This record gives sequence, C-alpha cells and structure tokens, in this order.
Amino acid sequence: MPMALSTRRMATTAVINGERLWSALMAMAEIGRTPAGGVRRLALSDEDRRARDLLVEWLREAGCAVRVDDLGNIYGRRDGDDAGATAVVCGSHLDTVPTGGRFDGVLGVLAALEAVRAMRDADLRTHRPVEVVCWTNEEGVRFAPAMLASGVVCGRFTVDEAYAARDQDGRTFGEELRRIGYLGKPEHRMRSAAAYVELHVEQGPTLEEEGAQVGIVEGVEGISWGWADVTGRAAHAGPTPVGDRRDALVAASRIVLALRALCAELPGVRATVGRCEVVPNAINVIPGAVRLSTDLRARTADLLATASRRLEEVCAAVARDDRVEVRAREFWQSPPTPFHPAVLSAVADAARDLGHTTLRLWAGAGHDAKYVADRHPAGMIFVPSSGGLSHNEAEWTSKDDCVRGASVLLGAVLRLAAA
Ligand SMILES: [Zn+2]
Repeated sequence: MPMALSTRRMATTAVINGERLWSALMAMAEIGRTPAGGVRRLALSDEDRRARDLLVEWLREAGCAVRVDDLGNIYGRRDGDDAGATAVVCGSHLDTVPTGGRFDGVLGVLAALEAVRAMRDADLRTHRPVEVVCWTNEEGVRFAPAMLASGVVCGRFTVDEAYAARDQDGRTFGEELRRIGYLGKPEHRMRSAAAYVELHVEQGPTLEEEGAQVGIVEGVEGISWGWADVTGRAAHAGPTPVGDRRDALVAASRIVLALRALCAELPGVRATVGRCEVVPNAINVIPGAVRLSTDLRARTADLLATASRRLEEVCAAVARDDRVEVRAREFWQSPPTPFHPAVLSAVADAARDLGHTTLRLWAGAGHDAKYVADRHPAGMIFVPSSGGLSHNEAEWTSKDDCVRGASVLLGAVLRLAAA
C-alpha cells in the first residue's frame, strides 16, 4: 500500500524543466550555427556528427542505454518495470536544411530527452520502457528522398537504396555514415513500438492564427504530384492574328487559375502549380508548349482522387476551348496517413490536464511519424511557428511554446507507457 501510494505521488511530479530544455536547444543550435542565427546541419556532415555526439552524451547522463542501428538512427532506452513490454518511443530528427532554423526536428528530440530527464529527476518508474529516437536524414536535402532512415526501418525503402543515395558531391549515404562513426547494427533497429509520439514545430501559421497553444495532429495529408503538358502551336508574335493563335501559355494560365478555384470548390484540398516551363521561351514567339507541375494535397484518399479527377476535367475543358492538347499525368503519390486514435487521445488528455488550448489539424508536410505510422501506433504534437515560418534561419518558437509542447509529450508518453 505505501508503495502504491508513493508511486502515484511520484507519477504526478515528473515535470519538464523549461530552463534545461531551452538551454539544451540553444546549445544544440550552436552546432552548425549560421551567421544569420540559423543552423546548417546537413545529414551525416561533421556538424551532424557533433550534434549526435552531444545527444548521446546527454542520453547516457540521463541514464539511458544508447544504441545505434545500421541507418545511424540513435535510440536511448529507459527501462520500464516490465522489461519484456514493447517501448513507447518519442523523438524526431537533428538534421536541417542548408539554411534551417533552431527548432525543426531538434525540438522533438530534445523534448524527448527532457521527458526522460524529468522522469529520472522524479525517480519515476513506467510500466513500459521509454525510448528517445533521433532519425537520420529526415530532410532529404543532402540525400534524397526525405525520411530515408525511418523509411527503411518501417519498410518503405531498402537499406541498399539508402546506402546508395548520393549527395551532389558524389558521396554516398553509406560512406558518410561510416565516416562519421554512426554505422550501427541492423539488430538495433526499432522493431516494435507500443506507440510513437513526435513533437514538432507546426511550420505553418494555423496554430498562431487560431490562437491555439498545442496542435493535436490527426494525420499527414496525402500528396499527388504530376505534370500537365500543354501543346499548342508556336508562331510569330507579330503577324499571327489573335483569333488564330493556339497559345500554350494562355491555356496553361487557365489551368493555373482553375486549380486555385478548385481549392474553393473542394474544401480541404490544396492545389499548387510551382513550376512552369515555356517552349521556346522567347519574347517574339507565341508559346508552343508548356509544362506545369501540379501538387495536390488532401486528407482522404477519396478527396485526393476527386481533386485528380477535377484536374483532368479542367485540362480537357481548356484543351477544347483553347484548341490545344493537354496531357495530365501523376508521377508520384503519397497516400494520406491518419494517426492512431489511442495516441491522439493520449495527447489530447495530456493537453487537457495541463490546461492548454488545443486545435486538431493535419500535417501538410512529411515527417518521420508518417512512415512509423505504417507499422506502429503513431501520433504527433505541434507547437506554433512564429509567423508560420520554417526551413528559414529566422524560424522561431517561443520558450513557453516549447515547454508546453514538451509537457504534453511527457504527459502523453506517461499515459502510453502506463498501459
Ligand atoms: Zn522536421
């Protein structure tokens, strides 16, 4: 009886140390710091190695058993009372884009570290083991594609594909992993997880605009990428009467505007044309051909399919009205990934108990949690990004927001590790 009482008492006392979390974030931001105050810490670079070394040191100090797998993913394990139980895993990534910020990825890793530090401070025992994970090469900017290492661990890619990925200087992922000393063992990979929780900055403006402190992320939106190739007829800009023209760029412009209208017509869909290649791209020639990129995003496969169908209808209508040929085809798709209800409710309950205002939203960008969700119950927590800015040296999330996010992470992990 006294044991049970004391366990309950201690279970309520594990609290995030905001000063310690913030100083860890600022210390990590020194590694690869840019003159403008951002961070350049490309995957498997010397800066990445130094960041990893520091994380490993901190994990060991926090009493975690550290292991590294054959993709360089780092795991810090804190045992639970049931040594055979599957772990609750939390983390994110330490790599950045070339002109990245101080919070993208690193917040999720260091908040997970702070959670185990807080458990140690409170001498708190959990039923399940708790693991902190740092995934390799989330950004995909040095070695494509993004989320490469979580993708291998969760069966999206093979390890050989990962090792063969090359940066623009011709160095491979495999060589660089070995060079920085983080080529670990395949048997160290995450094989099972009772749950995976990732705290991340939102990287968009919604939480700030809605005045919510914490985002409960319901899933990652599906994406469809394609080309729309418009073929008209190149002709002289002077002598060709307007009525005789088959101007591929005018037709392509109608497609761009129709896709914007599509977003209003289908709430929840976002459609973007980000690239436009004009042939011959000359001042006195009516454009003969145009290639547009199309980026469609939605929360459900049905909605994404509807958007793709509407895109085809738009292209057919433009082809008819403008007397051009239009060929639209998808070349890559990533289906929507809804997160697990048990993880969502652990996050929601933790935020409610802490008294934070919450908003349910979907992630519009990729995260390691998306691939983890293929295999294990997963979920994410967002905190506001000032001005919605990310992948930018000026990226900013306030200390209070970081602490709130870490506290919700700790609360969710304790709930998930108790059962
Ligand atoms: Zn990230």
